[in-house]
Amino acid sequence: MESLENTKVRKQNENHNTIINCDNNYFGEGYFSVIAGPCAIEDMDMAITTAREIEKYGAVALRGSLYKPRTSPYSFQGIGLDGIEILDAIKSETNLLLESEILSTNHIQVLSDHVDLVRIGSRNMDNYELLKEAGKLDKPVILKRGISATLEEFLLAAEYVMDAGNEQVILCERGIRSFETYTRNTLDILAIPALKELTHLPVIVDPSHSSGKRSLVPSACKAALAAGADGLIIEVHPDPLNALSDGSQSIDLIEYRKLMEDIQKLVPLFNKEFLTTTVDA
Ligand code: PEP
Ligand code: MN
Repeated sequence: MESLENTKVRKQNENHNTIINCDNNYFGEGYFSVIAGPCAIEDMDMAITTAREIEKYGAVALRGSLYKPRTSPYSFQGIGLDGIEILDAIKSETNLLLESEILSTNHIQVLSDHVDLVRIGSRNMDNYELLKEAGKLDKPVILKRGISATLEEFLLAAEYVMDAGNEQVILCERGIRSFETYTRNTLDILAIPALKELTHLPVIVDPSHSSGKRSLVPSACKAALAAGADGLIIEVHPDPLNALSDGSQSIDLIEYRKLMEDIQKLVPLFNKEFLTTTVDA
């Protein structure tokens, strides 16, 4: 790919694989790291319950979204910075890393001070000012593929973050828009090995926004692992039927436990190590 020549994102040789160390949890080749949690944090109770349970069943980070980009302005938009005390409480109660979406340059600094990883969502993949601001942070950035972005556009978006000074970028395949409507998006499974050919950056998969359906989430997770993904970001809710957003694609805690049991058995077959936090006795 010509446009990737002389870029920071480009893989230099077969063995060039960046492993991102986030407070002694790793993202990259040889590891399988799971981030899990609700589509959005709703209140203290559900957030703490989810965090404790996912930590028990295996995860490195909590999805702790406070801001939600929604198609309709009348849908739940997230609890915003009021949720920072919830993130802080989870930090003190668990060993999980915290991960949260940044939607705008207005809250990037205040939010990133309370989390270990920031996420730039699909809708902002080509928000170049936000990418450049994320490039000034000293923490990993999970960059999700735009809904109709080619791999080249996706990688050049990552290049913006890297070129601005932050080389800790984790790419996330989250499905692309296609003619199919049964699934919310079409999980581009070959994007995983293709990205691994083109770039040295870690690649994770979002089985929730790609499928849009709880019943398909386990298959998407296993397919991602088999295709070479370095991890997952999964929506998990203690009571999906009453979730304020994306309940239909969120698995519950019992389903999460079963899924992690299956995934942990499969990970060694792909020469990877399943990572978990150290749960306090
Ligand atoms: C999300 O992960 O919360 C999200 C909104 O997903 P995406 O940006 O992939 O649509
Ligand atoms: Mn969601």
